[in-house]
Amino acid sequence: EADKTYLSNSIREIEDFQKPGIKFKDITTLLGDAKAFHLLMDHLVERYENREIDYIAGIESRGFIFGSALAARLRTRFVPIRKPGKLPYTTISEKYSLEYGVDAVSIHIDAFTGAGKAKPKVLLIDDLIATGGTATAAVNLINKAGAECIEACFVINLTFLQGDLDIKKTTSVYSVLEV
Ligand code: IMP
Repeated sequence: EADKTYLSNSIREIEDFQKPGIKFKDITTLLGDAKAFHLLMDHLVERYENREIDYIAGIESRGFIFGSALAARLRTRFVPIRKPGKLPYTTISEKYSLEYGVDAVSIHIDAFTGAGKAKPKVLLIDDLIATGGTATAAVNLINKAGAECIEACFVINLTFLQGDLDIKKTTSVYSVLEV
């Protein structure tokens, strides 16, 4: 509990970024605090080390930081889930709606073939879940790509937005910090 308080206090809040009225959670202060970063990674290793995870999929771009650090600690594989137009090889995409308009996430079509399994187990990770639109699309994308998302993991869950409701219909959700 003291560790979670320390971790929580390491995250900076920026008022009115990137829109007026938004309190943006800035995780660069967590990354810049060796004790906080280590506490977080130890906590995630403890949770996931015996789950036989074949891949960690991280959502662009802060999900790459936590996801690849965790994949290295667990000696498993890392797959990037990116905005459209960024991945060089053949991709599959999943659209999701925003407050104004639509966005999408993409993955390489052969992203999960390297484990040599019919349904490899994937842990999805991102820094933060707000409305859940991005993560829900990412879970759908993992399934479309022939893998099984065993859990969606977030460092921070803005629980008042109830963004995890949709994802919970198809996979379990874990958040280190709930605010
Ligand atoms: P959602 O699709 O509404 O759940 O938004 C989640 C995505 O937006 C994640 O990829 C987050 O990295 C990003 N995001 C939204 N709000 C914040 C914030 O306050 N801090 C950091 N990232 C955020």
